[in-house]
Amino acid sequence: MKDEGYKSFWKEKREYHTDNCGLFFEIKSILYAQNSKFQRIEVVENEYFGRILFLDGLVQTTERDEYFYHEMLVHPAFVTHPQPQRVLVIGGGDGGVVKEVLRYPVEKVDFVEIDEKVIRVCQKYFPWLKKVLQDKRVELILQDGFEYIQQAQESYDIILVDSSEPVGPSVSLHEKKFYQLLRDNLSQPGIVVAQMGSPFFHQDELFRKFEFLRTIFKKVFFYTSPVPTYPAGEWSYAFLSETIDPTQIIRRPAGGLKYYSPQAHQRAFLLPKPLEKLRQNKS
Ligand code: SAM
Repeated sequence: MKDEGYKSFWKEKREYHTDNCGLFFEIKSILYAQNSKFQRIEVVENEYFGRILFLDGLVQTTERDEYFYHEMLVHPAFVTHPQPQRVLVIGGGDGGVVKEVLRYPVEKVDFVEIDEKVIRVCQKYFPWLKKVLQDKRVELILQDGFEYIQQAQESYDIILVDSSEPVGPSVSLHEKKFYQLLRDNLSQPGIVVAQMGSPFFHQDELFRKFEFLRTIFKKVFFYTSPVPTYPAGEWSYAFLSETIDPTQIIRRPAGGLKYYSPQAHQRAFLLPKPLEKLRQNKS
């Protein structure tokens, strides 16, 4: 049995979920640790989870469990939209979301990330990003997502918001004005999917967003999935549209997936009791 006694702090990387609890990873090696203009970027290696990306001390993705979050952010929209061709991804500098989008025969993916350093670091340590950036359908735009959508001339069939927590550069991506701009740049039919945080630790924030989202989109559905390394192991997402009902799957999902399935999809939209307030959909 392993000695569970004293471990010096520098051998662990901790993420605090509140002031007094969180998650820790033993560090096998530190691969990168520097500040960019926007945030602190760290990549560490852990025996079990492999490479882990932290931004401002919060886990963004790990090699071992990335597919839970990335598949669940992307595939529900792609199996319910009749013909998604033009896609916008805001945030998601690790490339996991765009990787999933490229499983479909889309025409164009505009990939808007604020922090070039996240792209450069992830390109080196998360090999899927290299492939994403070599794909001719992808245009990388290094810009603030809020500014981009304010000036955008294009409209999109699907918009995916893979923002970080509402601290630092991503604060504007969590406000009403941003979602109004997303709706204004959505084709019809169109879908926006955005990550919404932990249904346990960030519940008030979920309710706050639900209230303003209902004033912007006709269809507002929240859904959840497991993500082992996110706080409390479960994450939430919002599916927003004028016309599309996410419980009506009309297309087959891409092949080669590890978590997403039509069954996982239906389960994701069945909200438990603490999230009942998020179930009042307008039709
Ligand atoms: N879903 C993950 C989570 O909750 O842990 C976040 C993953 S992803 C790495 C978040 C990305 O959003 C980062 O690469 C960050 O640089 C980018 N980002 C933050 N604010 C942004 C903004 N205003 N515009 C565009 N990208 C932004």
